[in-house]
Amino acid sequence: MSRLITTLRAQRARAGALMALLMKDSEGYDGRVSDDLGRLWGQYLKQYRWRIFGAFAITLVWSTHGYVFALATRFLVDDVIRLGTGIPITLEEQLPGFYLWAGIILGTWTVVVITQWLRDRLILGVGQSLVYKLRTQLHEKLQVLHIGYFERQETGKLMSRVLEDVWIIREWSTTHAVNILAAVFQLLVGVAVAVWVNWQLTLIIIVSMPVYFWAFVQIRPAIRRLNIAMRRLNAGMYGRSQERIGAVSLVKAFDQERRETLDFRQRMNNYVRLAMRVINYQGGMVAAAGAITALTSGVVIYVGFSWARSGRISVGEVVFFMNVMPRLFMQINTLSNVFVQMQAVFVVIKRVFSLLDEDVDVSPGKIKLDGITGRIHFDGVSFRYPEQSSGALENISFYIAPGEKVALMGPSGAGKTTIFNLILRFYDPHEGSVQIDGINLVNADPTSVRRHVVLVQQEPVVFSGTVAENIVYGRTDSKPGAIMAAARQAELHDFIMTLPVKYETEVGQNGISLSGGQRQRLALATALLTRPEVLLLDDTTSALDAETEARIRTTLDQALEGRTSIIITQRIATARNCDRIIVLDHGRIVQQGTHDKLKSEEGFYRRIFLQQESL
Ligand code: ADP
Repeated sequence: MSRLITTLRAQRARAGALMALLMKDSEGYDGRVSDDLGRLWGQYLKQYRWRIFGAFAITLVWSTHGYVFALATRFLVDDVIRLGTGIPITLEEQLPGFYLWAGIILGTWTVVVITQWLRDRLILGVGQSLVYKLRTQLHEKLQVLHIGYFERQETGKLMSRVLEDVWIIREWSTTHAVNILAAVFQLLVGVAVAVWVNWQLTLIIIVSMPVYFWAFVQIRPAIRRLNIAMRRLNAGMYGRSQERIGAVSLVKAFDQERRETLDFRQRMNNYVRLAMRVINYQGGMVAAAGAITALTSGVVIYVGFSWARSGRISVGEVVFFMNVMPRLFMQINTLSNVFVQMQAVFVVIKRVFSLLDEDVDVSPGKIKLDGITGRIHFDGVSFRYPEQSSGALENISFYIAPGEKVALMGPSGAGKTTIFNLILRFYDPHEGSVQIDGINLVNADPTSVRRHVVLVQQEPVVFSGTVAENIVYGRTDSKPGAIMAAARQAELHDFIMTLPVKYETEVGQNGISLSGGQRQRLALATALLTRPEVLLLDDTTSALDAETEARIRTTLDQALEGRTSIIITQRIATARNCDRIIVLDHGRIVQQGTHDKLKSEEGFYRRIFLQQESL
């Protein structure tokens, strides 16, 4: 029994800790508001200043309508109906007054509709232009960012920056900005008109306003935090379910359906608990607002009518206050909401700007790598990834002659992929130099490097689109003849001809799915179409069955003829076909030579050779 209680307590504590973590407010704001807002204005909004000022001016006109209505009602009560004045009046005498009142109401409504339409047209247009500019800039930035950045960030977060954050900035710099202005102006005009009508009654309202504001500012942050927590929980549940449904066979194979169900139930439980708390807080907020409004209204109406009875003020003036009061409180409501969310909005603005300010790709050199032969030279290269304590490569030196075929081998983490990253100039070495045809890559234009050095990845990506679109990805101006030649070289042409609409068949997410081998051959065709002098292949034969592998090896032999090629592989069958094999371990070259040399030498290569020979 006591064990059960301890377990339950521990579970509750864990759930509590999880909730606390979920409810942690978004990151704090560590920038300078004036800098960020200044930049937002200067770079994105200033060019639309006339439209923005126009929208603001129209908003000011629009904001007065509530008080015109309230004053019109006062006029109706005091001067037309003459309620509580004791002066008799016939309906005939009242008629002109009614017509005038109706005319004022009609006119005001017309102005309201027109100003609202004009304001929205002006400000929403600015909003769309802002979204266009920010999103395209962010997207462009994501294309040119240094590759290391993507390893530090989750794709989901980056997408949310481009989509959600930009939307929030749009809302706040257009619609919300106008609403804030309208609220401030309505508050000022409202108080001024109310003071003009009767300053003593206005005083009662003014005294209760801070209480109203305070109550909202107390409750709103809790609701906001709960909403954030619910969004996070939701995102977690969504992500997890998507993952688990995608891997349903794994879940079933390990007999985990029940645990998955329980886990989901637990998360849903937390979600409902949070939702209930939101309902409670919202109820509290509505109750607090209602109580303060009711109390203030009660006092104003009681005092107002007592004064009306003694002739100190008119009935119309009391009616005016009854109209104006909820309107004033509404503005306080809007402003307290702004007050609570302000910090989060600054965080979003700062976040978007800091992405725009990230370092771009490696610093561009001037030399273009045209007309090269593909001679590669690593000269005493050392390299460490950012935020890593140990080096990925330590003083590496080797030559590769034009047209030479070299296999890179070694245990995982040895530094093989890093060598590719340096040849592609995704990163620059910290010491030593990587040279192609004698040109130190640090002085070369990175795009020209990548035009002559092409990588075929271990798990090639197939984009949604046609087969032809995928093949021409690196050379969109290719002629059909060249596309087919590349597909033939990659042994893909015959397969493509069996597809429903041949080269125009859709593949990837929206089309037919390709096998691992077909994907790799497609990637190879894409690479070959660009006719690179240097081809980097990352274990390209790993996803193939033995027969296809043997076939693609002969294909590769032909395709690689005359090109400098480096192949990361774990297979002796691939390595023995190469002119030379370089074995890496812990970022250093530990063996180098031909298959015949290395297989008779003690070391990594011989061990792998013996293992694979015995298969
Ligand atoms: P291999 O391709 O031989 O498996 P890598 O070149 O990928 O090895 O990695 C070499 C070393 O660098 C490893 O210790 C690895 O953990 C580290 N490393 C690789 N990529 C990154 C990265 N993007 N950021 C930080 N460290 C990395």
